[in-house]
Amino acid sequence: MTTNIITIVDQRGINSVPLIPAHTLAPGGTLADTRGRLLRDLRISVTDRCNFRCTYCMPKSVFDKNYKFLPRSELLSFDEITRMAALVAAHGVEKIRLTGGEPLLRKNVELLIERLTALKTLDGKPLDVALTTNASLLARKAPALKAAGLHRVTVSLDSLDDAKFRAINDVDFSVADVLGGIDAAQNAGFESIKINMVVKKGVNDQDVVAMARHFKGSGHIVRFIEYMDVGSSNGWCMDDVVPSAEIVRMINAEMPIIEAESNYPGEVAERWTYADGSGEIGVISSVTQAFCSTCTRARLSTDGKLYTCLFGQSGHDLRALIRSGKSDEQIASAIGLIWNQREDRYSEIRTEETARSQKVEMSYIGG
Ligand code: SAM
Repeated sequence: MTTNIITIVDQRGINSVPLIPAHTLAPGGTLADTRGRLLRDLRISVTDRCNFRCTYCMPKSVFDKNYKFLPRSELLSFDEITRMAALVAAHGVEKIRLTGGEPLLRKNVELLIERLTALKTLDGKPLDVALTTNASLLARKAPALKAAGLHRVTVSLDSLDDAKFRAINDVDFSVADVLGGIDAAQNAGFESIKINMVVKKGVNDQDVVAMARHFKGSGHIVRFIEYMDVGSSNGWCMDDVVPSAEIVRMINAEMPIIEAESNYPGEVAERWTYADGSGEIGVISSVTQAFCSTCTRARLSTDGKLYTCLFGQSGHDLRALIRSGKSDEQIASAIGLIWNQREDRYSEIRTEETARSQKVEMSYIGG
């Protein structure tokens, strides 16, 4: 094995150049970690920049004009991202989600999508490519995204109360413009659009029922997400979390819902369907019912560090391998070693104390 691990500590955490095993193999076959979890999903942050300053994600107090976003030369290029995606697909990844930051801010992102949707899974099926967006540019971009072959879109929207939403995104963006983006995506041919609402106690928990009611019968699926202690800048505390059980109780009291089977093993959202058959909602209980035991996700940061947990403190610098001319076999074998050694189960061991530990920001590793 190569032993020269270089460790770099910067504002984006502790990063090391991965080991390359002495005997490298062509990428192929699934990878299991120390707890038997396969590598199945990759989230890719295509930019660490965002045009929103959501108070719970990229607060203005931290992400201000002095914040050092990555310079362009540090970003993985589309060629580099496509190469990484092909390598992990050969290792069993079936789904890729583009995120950020705001992924639609990345210039010509549809050209990347076109290349990713042409890749195949181990079974020879097209890779499932999805994107999470704040929808600020969706009305303009939806037709190009559809034409590029994007399979699914998730839109974030934390309240239908315009004043409240403008205060949460902290850049005065209106609810009507997000809804316009959702309509444009539907008109472009995207179906079952998912709407993510992060619920924070005392901020938007009073808006849960209105959100469910608005999208009931629309064919879109609202997913209520427990507020998490990602990154180190949102001042998270357990008291701010509204447990999913409470969200289910609030919605059920107004519009009866019935728990439904998961679509596939390891699905993060718990599904509930309306008793009158008019659609479904989901709840993501990352805090109160950790799902680490079925977590099959890795994340690739904007500058090519691989993270094996959303709450990670350190990443594996794959870009250093790419930019030093390593072969596919070498990089794929390094990824294999990283995944085989993975032990992460942060949400199972979360305490108020771990929540205060230094973690990388979600905008950088991809939400
Ligand atoms: N800019 C895009 C967007 O707004 O959807 C993609 C990036 S954003 C980081 C991805 C998702 O993470 C959004 O739905 C956002 O609400 C969610 N998110 C951010 N911080 C969170 C937190 N502390 N807890 C739970 N979800 C969070």
